Amino acid sequence: MDAIVALAKRRGFIFQSSEIYGGLTGFFDYGPLGVELKKNIRDCWWNDMVRRREDIVGLESSIIMHPKVWEASGHVAGFTDPLVDCKVSKQRYRADQLFFAPVVVDGKTVGHVSALESEKTTEDLQAAAESFKRKKAIQGTLAPVQPRDMTEARPEEIALIPSPATGEPGSLTEPRAFNMMFETHVGPMRDSASVAYLRPETAQGMFADFRNVVDTGRVKLPFGIAQIGKSFRNEITPRNFIFRSREFEQMEMEYFIHPDADWLACHEEWLKWCREWLMSIGLPDSHLSLHEHPKAKLAFYSRRTVDIMFRYPFGVQELWGIAARSDYDLQQHQKFSGVPQVYFDEATKQKVVPHVIEPAVGVDRILLAVLCAGYAEEDVKDEKGNVEKRTVLRLSPRVAPIKVAVLPLLKNKEALVSRARELHARLKRRYAVFYDEAGAIGRRYRRQDEIGTPWCVTIDFDTIEKDGTFTLRDRDSMQQRRITEAELIALLDEKVY
Ligand code: ATP
Repeated sequence: MDAIVALAKRRGFIFQSSEIYGGLTGFFDYGPLGVELKKNIRDCWWNDMVRRREDIVGLESSIIMHPKVWEASGHVAGFTDPLVDCKVSKQRYRADQLFFAPVVVDGKTVGHVSALESEKTTEDLQAAAESFKRKKAIQGTLAPVQPRDMTEARPEEIALIPSPATGEPGSLTEPRAFNMMFETHVGPMRDSASVAYLRPETAQGMFADFRNVVDTGRVKLPFGIAQIGKSFRNEITPRNFIFRSREFEQMEMEYFIHPDADWLACHEEWLKWCREWLMSIGLPDSHLSLHEHPKAKLAFYSRRTVDIMFRYPFGVQELWGIAARSDYDLQQHQKFSGVPQVYFDEATKQKVVPHVIEPAVGVDRILLAVLCAGYAEEDVKDEKGNVEKRTVLRLSPRVAPIKVAVLPLLKNKEALVSRARELHARLKRRYAVFYDEAGAIGRRYRRQDEIGTPWCVTIDFDTIEKDGTFTLRDRDSMQQRRITEAELIALLDEKVY
């Protein structure tokens, strides 16, 4: 993970926000290459989700909406994470990410240990228990630890659990609900009547505008409304680089279906669609898996939620949540606004409140997955047969920030340079391309490998003296072959869509 973070900074993909002032936790900036990569992910999703389908339309709703929206949706009352404070260090923890275990020796509890959630929480707790026993010079057999998180701690246990910050028990508070919405004020008055929220999800925009779209969009059930935009959550513990941040971007789609429709089949279809889409932008199926939310942990209005998980270097984590949300949201907005949220069904001549299937994904989480899946360091041989390290980002041509680098073999040969400039000018009308004439050709290839450019085209003496063809060098195989301009355009047309 450290190597990926370092590359992201070094090559201008991602910077810490406000770095010159020491940064602001949970906020990030996308640099020149990052912004291209992110835009490509968004564009692929928008094209596949909206433009290439006939049943889905787009929307861009405002980030700050009427506060009643968030009362109706349940966010004001319930968009909370359980928070635990350490009274001594002033550190705060998400209770469901802070694990503890009793230290049991010869069947007797002799103390407690704690650890923050990681891919090896149990091992960390076991090691802490062993260390505890050693330090206190306790004789006997240590039982394997039984980890629980702080939401499961009994009140009498809390005083016994050491704070991860101090290592001492007695300073952790009981978990309390912490609302993650960012508050602001609208207008010149700062009182309770002017309170508004930065949206914590884009989805409510689709529900609040449901009637507007139905009345103007010529849509027929089943149909979807899709939106891409920023969301804000005051996460207690932003972490794992851009995986969990406080300002992030979501791509959400609400697919409205008739209340009598086969919602399970529709849910399955969307699960399949989302997984295949992730593969279409280059995520390997081997890194993807499904997590079915257990019935007992589902929100009361949810019929089923399945997350598509991705194997990040820091563990298998949620990438895309696909939820069957019944008609909960529309019913709530109908109740709170007094405006009927209905669809007139021509077939039965009845007004119905549609149900909804919601695939909701974060752009930043996809971008991180793309970087993690694509990053490799390999030993390769240079032209002289010497082994050297190459860093390569195997990004799909669909999302790669630069599709082709155009390289004249030598920068001091006017004929090579002008032919390369001419090709570059033609390609850049349609694609993000890069012109580079500085340095040895091998070094120029390596620079492109590191930023994920799928192909390099070299204009050499055969181009200008013989048949006009270029050398096409493939990033992944490092193979080179001759190619005409028409073949190059056809290749780009097929692979970049
Ligand atoms: P988590 O359990 O990881 O907090 P969630 O279940 O609360 O996520 P949803 O409310 O379902 O997430 O949001 C939909 C998607 O938005 C998530 O699958 C994820 O891709 C993205 N997302 C949610 N919170 C964040 C965040 N803090 N930073 C980046 N992306 C996020």
